[in-house]
Amino acid sequence: MASNYYKFAVHPVTMEILNEHINNILKQLPPDVVMVAVTKTRPVDVLKQAYDLGLRDFGENRVQEMLEKQPILPADIRWHLIGHLQTNKVKFIAPFVHLIHSVDSLKLLEEINRQAARQNRTIDCLLQIYIATEESKFGLDQSEAEALLESEVYKTMTNIRICGLMGMATFTDDVSLVRREFAGLKSMFETIKQKYFRQSEYFNIISMGMSGDYLTAIEEGSTMVRIGTALFGER
Ligand SMILES: *Cc1c(COP(=O)(O)O)cnc(C)c1O
Repeated sequence: MASNYYKFAVHPVTMEILNEHINNILKQLPPDVVMVAVTKTRPVDVLKQAYDLGLRDFGENRVQEMLEKQPILPADIRWHLIGHLQTNKVKFIAPFVHLIHSVDSLKLLEEINRQAARQNRTIDCLLQIYIATEESKFGLDQSEAEALLESEVYKTMTNIRICGLMGMATFTDDVSLVRREFAGLKSMFETIKQKYFRQSEYFNIISMGMSGDYLTAIEEGSTMVRIGTALFGER
């Protein structure tokens, strides 16, 4: 399938239904929890509708798709990169990306810092933490995250800010497993905050919770949920 197949995707919900989904989800979220609308695979007119209904935080998992959408949509959208990021693609999103949720190596962080400096800006990042029991290629464990934060290279970086942690729970109906995984991420967040960010108010984001598990995630302390299907329908 072509890489831009989403341009031809059928819009699964009407504006009215989208509005209903937005309101229903926002009603369930504490006021300080940010909802990132995950717009991967959705055509730009769907993003425009979400924008017109008041949403400003949009999440994409592929750089190429974000780059196709960003220039033709309003400039006050906050673009969140939520999927795996290859080092050689950082330069393309560095001019505008709002938050990178998926930092999983020191090498990637170095490149983000380098490209942010070239743009004269600071790029906010989250460390992606591996919390699921299922197989996954991406994410750091606690000791890897701490090694990154203790490295000399990290300490010299002036154009990035680590603002918190991101994690994805196991894809399962077992709510108690999902809850344990989210609780684990929350406790790792508290430990890392105490050790490395005690004076840093900006270290305050726990990005966890998707369409199937966001209620559990907010019960376990999420401050940012990433929701696609529950807003826009099945992909
Ligand atoms: C696709 C995706 C989501 C949203 O998933 P839904 O189940 O559609 O809400 C959240 N986070 C990441 C990292 C994703 O890739």
